[in-house]
Amino acid sequence: MRRGARDADRYRVDDPNSFRLKHIDPADTGSFRGKDKAEKELAAGTAQLSEFQDKLYAQDRWALLLVFQAMDAAGKDGTIKHVMSGVNPQGCEVHSFKAPSPEELDHDFLWRSMKAMPERGRIGIFNRSHYEEVLVVRVHREILATQKIPSHLVTPDIWRQRFDDINAFEHYLTRNGVVIRKFFLYVSREEQRRRFLERLEQPEKNWKFSLADAKEREHWDDYMAAYEDMIRHTSAPHAPWYVVPADHKWFTRVVVAEAIVETLKGLQLAYPRVDATKRKELQEVRRVLENEAAMQRKKTARTKGDARKTAARSSRRKKA
Ligand code: ATP
Ligand code: MG
Repeated sequence: MRRGARDADRYRVDDPNSFRLKHIDPADTGSFRGKDKAEKELAAGTAQLSEFQDKLYAQDRWALLLVFQAMDAAGKDGTIKHVMSGVNPQGCEVHSFKAPSPEELDHDFLWRSMKAMPERGRIGIFNRSHYEEVLVVRVHREILATQKIPSHLVTPDIWRQRFDDINAFEHYLTRNGVVIRKFFLYVSREEQRRRFLERLEQPEKNWKFSLADAKEREHWDDYMAAYEDMIRHTSAPHAPWYVVPADHKWFTRVVVAEAIVETLKGLQLAYPRVDATKRKELQEVRRVLENEAAMQRKKTARTKGDARKTAARSSRRKKA
């Protein structure tokens, strides 16, 4: 097992009841002392991921759903980009969940997630997800009022009910062959401040910044409380949360990559076996293709011979 894989195990929440955010240091780099070794491992991880994805696609049985949640500037986009860099785009789809549209608000809150589920053989990435329903919506209670839920159904129990619904949803998906892994990229408040300042200073990063992002920092503690409660209630053996330290991007990436590699390794993926009928069909195709090449060679030889004869005939004619 590679080093990053052991680190990934460490950040997987196996005992949700005893989970506390304060036990995790966002600046942690696990067993790595520096960037270089982590980047080498990341390269090895992405190469392996690409092989597994090819088999996942060919086998066409499992789907893999990767959920990413984080505060702004924690590095969701960069992690997705780096970790999936070697993966065939045909077998992978990214969905970014923003504030719900009017059509989405006309449905139950899991509707849009269900619509975005990866097909068998594919990897689906949720850049934010149904978990926003117990994060931003919980921190900004006024959003709940826009959701058009009959008022007597909105009680103080709503968050616990949503946890139950999400757990049931993920159980259902698991029982249908969707493998779920969830990542909370845990950045510190100070590192977020530093990254925001960087976005302001670098013109090519200005577009990523808005005043609203900075204002959202006022709710930091509420968000952390919501994240902790969410992780405690929705981490399960079949759909675990990984709380990944995110103050060092190179570390976040290697941990996420290794967690995905280990998950796919556990599926024991294999290319579909070819049965006797199929083997016969393939032999026939080979015969046709080989014959075609032989026929082509014969045809070319004949054409060349004919050309030589015609040339000789015309030179004889000229001499006469
Ligand atoms: P980046 O800032 O890196 O481009 P992002 O994921 O933060 O990526 P934004 O467009 O900035 O994208 O933000 C999307 C916003 O949509 C977030 O503030 C998020 O909280 C909000 N959002 C997502 N899902 C919901 C939801 N179900 N209800 C309300 N708001 C939501
Ligand atoms: Mg944003």
